[in-house]
This record gives sequence, structure tokens and C-alpha cells, in this order.
Amino acid sequence: MREFNLEKIVRPNIKQLKAYSSARDEFKGVAEVYLDANENPFGTLNRYPDPQQVELKQKLSEIKKVNNNQIFIGNGSDEVIDLAFRIFCEPEKDKALTFSPSYGMYDVSAAINNIELIKQPLLADFQINLNQLQPYLEMEDVKLIFICSPNNPTGNSINKEDIEYILKNFNGIVIIDEAYIDFSTSASLISAIEEYPNLLISQTFSKAWGMASARVGVGYANQEIIKLYNKVKPPYNVSSLSQEAVLSVLNNQEKFEIEKNIILNEREKVITQLSQISSVKKIYPTEANFVLIEVENAGKIYTDLVEKNIIIRNRNSLVNNCLRITIGSPEENKKLINTLQNL
Ligand code: PMP
Repeated sequence: MREFNLEKIVRPNIKQLKAYSSARDEFKGVAEVYLDANENPFGTLNRYPDPQQVELKQKLSEIKKVNNNQIFIGNGSDEVIDLAFRIFCEPEKDKALTFSPSYGMYDVSAAINNIELIKQPLLADFQINLNQLQPYLEMEDVKLIFICSPNNPTGNSINKEDIEYILKNFNGIVIIDEAYIDFSTSASLISAIEEYPNLLISQTFSKAWGMASARVGVGYANQEIIKLYNKVKPPYNVSSLSQEAVLSVLNNQEKFEIEKNIILNEREKVITQLSQISSVKKIYPTEANFVLIEVENAGKIYTDLVEKNIIIRNRNSLVNNCLRITIGSPEENKKLINTLQNL
């Protein structure tokens, strides 16, 4: 393993930063009268939410078998991604790296933070080309590597051995974006946060948990990385409504399993039906709740579907003539397949 030193890769201004502290951090739940936060005394949503999301972290720590101080709760996992740039990358100086094709927010977040994002093309099977990656692992100014697994938009999981090679041979932070992990047969790498001090796992309640509207994402890492996240995050970044909503789905895991299995069954059904449609040239293997297909003319099929009021994602700019289709309800999927058959 190369020498990983967290102190060395944190932006100097973040190292010096004193986090905003609210009186609620110190006296939450213990006082009788709270006149500290300029709230309105009337109403039901009048009080600020728990800035440390203690109850939610407690529940997640039991389910995920990690400590509370190894958990960061974000305003969607997009916040987990964005804060990584803000903690570790100096604008106009440092760099980050990801693979292409992958999730578009890495580009947008890098651009917002004025950070160059290096993009390594994935191989034909959408795995990482470790040989090509090697020189970047050694560059001092590359601070972050984003690995999306299962990958959006391709759907495949990235080989665990390759991820571990990167973790062992890179001195910066490796963020594994596991937004789609609950749909996958590959295990999460969450338990590896104990072993790798440079690993951050990002997950979300927006996909398998069905809570996209609540905007709750989670970062798991060793407590030193989590401390930095807590220092930089806005004080009340997750609303009380969202914290409660997510706690309630976590307390109903049976429903989660049932719905996830319906989606997985539908995925197999949709794949079989797509394979019988002549304009579909290739269906990429998927471990997510979407499927990437290659067609004869992606642009035409995409606009034909829009005309029929069905919206999918045209990914032609990322993978030639490819469309990404989310697995919907049985009725929605049936509509899509019937429409495709009749185009
Ligand atoms: N990562 C990946 C790979 C995604 O596809 C998405 C959403 N499309 C996100 C992160 C962001 O999810 P959220 O902010 O809703 O948690």
C-alpha cells in the first residue's frame, strides 16, 4: 500500500476551517425553552431539524454494521459527491478522475468547483483499464477517483479486484458510488472502510428505497473523513421531514424487499421482451434498475417515444446509438414494450 496521509490531501482552507456551530448541537433535547435559533414559536415545522441526524445514523449503523461516526447524511448523494470536491480539491489546481461513460454529476460538480476532471475510457466490457490508469494513480494533484458501481449508464458492476488495486495504489480518496447497489448481486464494499482509510462509499435512498423526493444520500468512510464532511456541510442539510421519512422506510424493510423484487422481476421480463424487438441490436448486462440497449437509430427511437409520451434517456452521446431505460411499474413497462413493438 502506498502512503496515504489524509492531512496531506485536505485543502488548507478546510483544514483551518472552524465549522458553523449551532446552539442546538450542544443542547439538543435537554432544555425547556429554546430561544437560540430565531425560530418561530408557532407551528409544526417551526424548529430546525437535528443537524447531526442522530436517530437516522443510529438506525443506519445497526443495519450497515458501521459506527455512527462513520456515517455522513447528505442532501441526496449528489451532496456527498459535491462536498468531496470542496474538501479535497483546490480550484484551478487539483484534479479528479473518473471513467467514461459514467454518471454526469461528476462532470458538473467538478466544473462548478473549477476542478479538471480526467476521464479514462472504460474498456469494451465497461471495466477499468488499469494499465492506462497507472500513471494517474501516481499524480500528486489527482485527489479524487470516482468509481460508479453498478455504473450509470452501463449497468455493470466494476470488478472488485480492480477497485481494491486502486484503493491500495492511490494516495487520494476513492469514492465508490453505490447508488444502485441494492439491485446488484455484487456485495457493497462498505465493510472495506475499516481497511482502507482512503475509501468513501456513497449510497442513496433515491433508488431501491423509493425516496428520491426526500433527497437523502449517505457517505460511509472512516471517522476522519466523516469529520471533514461534517465540518463543511451546511448545518441543517437534511430536513426533519426527510429524516423521518427515511427512518420510516428503514423500519419497513419487508416492503422494501417486496418492491425491489418486483423491479428485479420486471427487469428480467423487460430484457426478454426487448430481445425480441428487431430494432434492438444489443442489450447490455445490468445490475441496476435500468438497462442500456443499442439500437439502429437511437435519436429516432427516442423522439418517436417522446411523441408517444414515453420518456427514456438517449445516451447516444456517451455510447453510440444507446438508450437507457429505467425499469418502471409493470403497466409502464408494458406500455413501453408495446409502443416499441409498434414503432
Ligand atoms: N449517483 C448515481 C450513479 C446516480 O445515478 C444518481 C442519480 N441519478 C446519483 C448518484 C444521485 O442520487 P441522489 O442525489 O438522488 O442521491
